[in-house]
Amino acid sequence: MKRNLLLTPGPTQIPPQICEVLGRPIIHHRTPQFQTILKEAAEGLKYVFQTQNDVFILTSSGTGAMESAVCNLLSSGDKAVCVEAGKFGERWTELCKAYGIKAEVLKIPSGKAVKDTQIRELLEKDKDIKVVFTTLTETSTGVDTNIKAIAEVIKKTNAVLVVDAISGLGATELKTDEWGVDVVVSGSQKGLMLPPGLAFISVSKKAFALVEQSKCPKYYFDLKKAKKACDQTDTPFTPAIGIIIALNESLKLIKQMGLEKLIAHHARLAKANRAAAKALGLKLFADESCISNAVTAICVPDGIEGEKLAKVMRDTHGITMAGGQSELKGKIIRIAQMGCVDEYDILTGISCLEKVLKEMGYKFELGAGVAAAQKLLNS
Ligand SMILES: *Cc1c(COP(=O)(O)O)cnc(C)c1O
Repeated sequence: MKRNLLLTPGPTQIPPQICEVLGRPIIHHRTPQFQTILKEAAEGLKYVFQTQNDVFILTSSGTGAMESAVCNLLSSGDKAVCVEAGKFGERWTELCKAYGIKAEVLKIPSGKAVKDTQIRELLEKDKDIKVVFTTLTETSTGVDTNIKAIAEVIKKTNAVLVVDAISGLGATELKTDEWGVDVVVSGSQKGLMLPPGLAFISVSKKAFALVEQSKCPKYYFDLKKAKKACDQTDTPFTPAIGIIIALNESLKLIKQMGLEKLIAHHARLAKANRAAAKALGLKLFADESCISNAVTAICVPDGIEGEKLAKVMRDTHGITMAGGQSELKGKIIRIAQMGCVDEYDILTGISCLEKVLKEMGYKFELGAGVAAAQKLLNS
C-alpha cells in the first residue's frame, strides 16, 4: 500500500476533517436544515471571494462557471476580449466561439502575463467591447495576472471584467470589490480542498445589467434562475449536497487561518519550490515578473523525458505532479502550492523530483534542492 501525494493544480489533497464530512449520510436539500447550510456557504464564499456580490453555486466543474459567464453576459454577435496566456485563456475563446461571440484574442507569449496597457489600447480602439475575459492564475504556465491593474483600466469603461480564478482563489491575492472586479469564477477542487463538482460565480451589479440583456441560449446555467433561487436561500436544481456541506468545513478552515495568512503561506511554499529548482540548475518557465503563487512550472532539462519523469514519480513513488499541456507536454513539470499543502509536502515532492532526475541521468548534487528549500522555509 502506497500513499498518493497530490501536488497537482487540481484536484488537490482533501484534509481529513473534510473527508470525514464527505463520508456522512446525505440529507435532503429542500429542508430548513439545508437552508441553514446554504446560508452559511453563501456568507463564507463572500469572504473567500472578497465581495459583497452574490456568489452563485453551480453543480459542475469549474468550466461550467466559465460557460455561464459567457452565455449570461453576452448575446450572439457581441464583442469580447479574450486574454490567451495559455491553455485556460484559450478556453474563453473557445467558449465565445461556441456562442457566436466575436472574440478579439489577445495572445500573450507563453510564460508571460498580459499588461493593463494592452487592454486599455483595445478598449480605446473599440468601444463596443462588452466583456474582457482574463485568468488570475494561468495554471498551464504558472503565471499570475495583475488583475488589480487591469480592473483599474476596465472600471472606467462600460466593459465588464471577468476573471477565471479557478486555480488562483485562496492561493493568490484577489480583492474582488476593492479592485472593482465584476465577475469571478472558481471551482471546488483546487484552493478550496474539495472534490470536483462545484463551480462558483460572483456577479457585480454592473455585470448583472448585462445578464438582463443577454440573449444567448441557456437553461441549466441561467444566472437569472440562480439569482431568483439564491434570493430565497435555495438552488434552482438539485445541488451537490454533500460537497456543499463539505464546502462549509473548508470555508471554516480558511476563515480560521485567515485569507491573508493563507496566501502568504502559499507564497512561501512557492518561493521554496523556486529556490529548489534554481539550486538544481533548473529553469523556471514563467517570467520572474509574473510568476505564480499557486503553481510553479519548472522546465525539464535537456535530455530528460518530462513525461517519463512525472510518470515514474507517480507510479513508483506515489507523488503526483502535473506535466505540461499541449505544446508544453514533456517540457515542464508543475508543482501546485494551492489547497492544503504544507512545507513537508513540498520537501517530499522536491526530494522525489531529485531522486528520479538522478536516476534519469541529470547531473547535480543530490540534496541541493531540498537544502535550498529548507533554508528558505527556515528563514
Ligand atoms: C482547472 C482550471 C480550469 C478548469 O476547471 P475544471 O474544473 O476542470 O472545469 C479552468 N481554469 C483554470 C485557470 C484552471 O486552473
